[in-house]
Amino acid sequence: MLRNRLFTPGPTSVPEQILLEMASPIIHHRTEEFIKIAAETLENLKYIFQTKNDVFIIASSGTGAMEAAVVNLLSAGDKVAVISGGKFGERFKEIALAYKLEVIPIEVEWGKKLSPETVKEVLAKNPGIKAVFGTLCETSTATHFDVKGIAEVVAGFEDTVFVVDAVSALGAVPCLTDEWKIDVVVTGSQKAFMLPPGLAFMSMSPKAWAMAEKSTLPKFYLDLKKYKKTLAKNDFPFTIPVSLVAGLRKSLEIIKSLTMEKIWEEHRKRAEATRQAFKAAGLKLFSESPSDAVTAVVLPEGVEGDKLVKSLRTKYGMSVAGGQDKLKGKIIRISHLGWQDEFDALTAITAVGVVLRQAGCNIDMEKGLSLAKEILFTSEK
Ligand SMILES: *Cc1c(COP(=O)(O)O)cnc(C)c1O
Repeated sequence: MLRNRLFTPGPTSVPEQILLEMASPIIHHRTEEFIKIAAETLENLKYIFQTKNDVFIIASSGTGAMEAAVVNLLSAGDKVAVISGGKFGERFKEIALAYKLEVIPIEVEWGKKLSPETVKEVLAKNPGIKAVFGTLCETSTATHFDVKGIAEVVAGFEDTVFVVDAVSALGAVPCLTDEWKIDVVVTGSQKAFMLPPGLAFMSMSPKAWAMAEKSTLPKFYLDLKKYKKTLAKNDFPFTIPVSLVAGLRKSLEIIKSLTMEKIWEEHRKRAEATRQAFKAAGLKLFSESPSDAVTAVVLPEGVEGDKLVKSLRTKYGMSVAGGQDKLKGKIIRISHLGWQDEFDALTAITAVGVVLRQAGCNIDMEKGLSLAKEILFTSEK
């Protein structure tokens, strides 16, 4: 019998305590019992977002919150800048275009960094940009963006808000929403939250709300004003997936007891061990600014990435991600997200090494593994 091991950058593994919580009998979402669960959950969500502002829960995947950001902030014909260095940056562009906004693209070569200076130049050259859209971890290329630096730039423009897609990064790498002055942060349940897919979360700053007040784009299910009204009573405008919220309460309780600092450090260590292991084995990383949420390893010439991914799944029950779009078949992506420990990191490195050898690659995985062990265990405090 194969053990199901998830090393995809979403969905990720769900711990037993959370699974059990979600197996509890369904209660009605407008009962006092559920409102109590919701109240605790909504309060603790602020901790993982590192914000004092309200955080909203929407029943959708992460993309639902991305769309909610667009339709709630903007008005017909508004000008927006979209930072795009991969598939998810592209998605923000597609959503903005679907609502016929004027998009000024800030294109970044896949896997490369973006200087906040570039954003400043674009904003200065194109007066009237209402919002800048960016990504904290561009999951398709495993690239970390300097959201802190970009937020500082955008904060200098009074009539412009900064929206960050932190779907794969929030809860894995630092995202200091208030301190960095990010107006809107969106994320989803199936990444670092250790939950199944199905919920999206988003924070809104006062600056974002001021813009939302004037927004004229059409919306109904994603109209945040409806959510704001019910939030005051720890309630939701539509039927909320009660089981997922019960799981979320547990997940946030675990996260809070561990502390964000500890969780960020654990992700960093697993990511660093994975990066160093593959480099020592003779392979290259795809990104010049690698994220601690996910690692993308460039496959040697002649290795077919899709076959490797399939072989890991069918032979060993292990799920990793391949490349998307123009990276299809060329990279392999290993997630460090959520419920994983040091041994999981070693398992992922070992397994990818094994199938690479089976595919005929002459790599020194032993060297990589011993280095990974050193990184994972000797820095133990
Ligand atoms: C997973 C992910 C999303 C959202 O995808 P959904 O399938 O809608 O949950 C958005 N942005 C990034 C960076 C992601 O990693």
